[in-house]
Amino acid sequence: MKYNIALVPGDGIGPEIVGATVEVLKITAGKFGHDFAFNTYLAGGSALDEFGVPLPQETVDGCLASDSVLLGAVGGPKWDAVPNHMRPEKALLGLRKALGLYTNLRPAAIQPALAEACVLRPDIAAKGFDLMIVRELTGGIYFGDRGRNEAGDAAYDTEAYSVMEIERVARRAFETARRRKGHLTSVDKANVLETSRLWRETVHRLGETEYPDVRLDDMYVDNAAMQIIRDPSFFDVLVTSNMFGDILSDEASQVTGSIGLLASASLGDSSRGMYEPIHGSAPDIAGKDLANPIATVLSAAMMLRYSFDLAEEADYIEKAVADVLSEGWRTADIKAPGQEDWLRGSEMRDKILEKLV
Ligand code: NAD
Repeated sequence: MKYNIALVPGDGIGPEIVGATVEVLKITAGKFGHDFAFNTYLAGGSALDEFGVPLPQETVDGCLASDSVLLGAVGGPKWDAVPNHMRPEKALLGLRKALGLYTNLRPAAIQPALAEACVLRPDIAAKGFDLMIVRELTGGIYFGDRGRNEAGDAAYDTEAYSVMEIERVARRAFETARRRKGHLTSVDKANVLETSRLWRETVHRLGETEYPDVRLDDMYVDNAAMQIIRDPSFFDVLVTSNMFGDILSDEASQVTGSIGLLASASLGDSSRGMYEPIHGSAPDIAGKDLANPIATVLSAAMMLRYSFDLAEEADYIEKAVADVLSEGWRTADIKAPGQEDWLRGSEMRDKILEKLV
């Protein structure tokens, strides 16, 4: 099969990690008889320098014409002083909007080989965990009506959700659970918030009518925040609103202790998605061959799984990464204290490629 992949490397370490990931995708395509075609587009600070805007129309059109988008990261101190509407990060919001992406998938897993990096108690980390947070991305309090009174000494923000908005993200979550262990936890604050009560009713109706094979339970968000630390192995897939998901996904990623390993996907109605590492453009290490490419490589594996339905190919890449890690190979960001034989970014790329050929 032929797939057109739009590459948006962005700024800082973006080009390094996206470049490494393209090599991984090329080898995987050859191995499984696919044809991946790549087109590269500018966004963020690099687009600002070249075209005077953070998200050129050419980039939007190229991404819309592609089967999926692989993004590095945008931003850096060089563009910190530009006016707000020109900030590199505006490119991310603009792309999400143009591509109609309303769901964010963020896995957080502890690879057995990296249990020592986990910030949790060793007995909890030793049990391992592999959870996926499905977050609503375009609704809720971040997009609701807001304001201040005339005196400026009182303010409000509004949380609003429609059944349609809840259903579409919940469907993604149920489908995701079906591809994994078949367990979905819906996170809300239904003891207090009316939007959460609608959320809960809607998710349950869908579960009963369309996904009876998925085990569904509910959890209040305050409890979920505790359980991610106390017993993360309980979770398979979590689905939640924009703000709760924002907070819980950062919490879950931090407990793994390895920002350079964490992938993410943003999805909408079509199979086209945007896949990117959760970390930023790491300007402090850009150009020094220190960037860990694994988060981007795992983002590409998610693209194969969720946009192209190539589960075997995704497993193949994920296994290559897990094997390299279980052999003890580390980049500087995940090395054990005192470990001398750590790899540069390009060396980590080559270790992964060796497993794939
Ligand atoms: P960051 O994630 O870029 O870096 C945080 C720390 O983690 C740094 O020490 C960095 O060196 C390290 N790090 C990050 N990714 C790494 C990797 N792959 N390998 C090894 N080490 C890695 O966050 P920041 O420093 O707060 O932000 C830097 C820039 O990135 C800012 O301009 C910010 O706005 C932008 N940013 C972009 C995105 C995005 O594009 N999605 C997300 C977050 C931050």
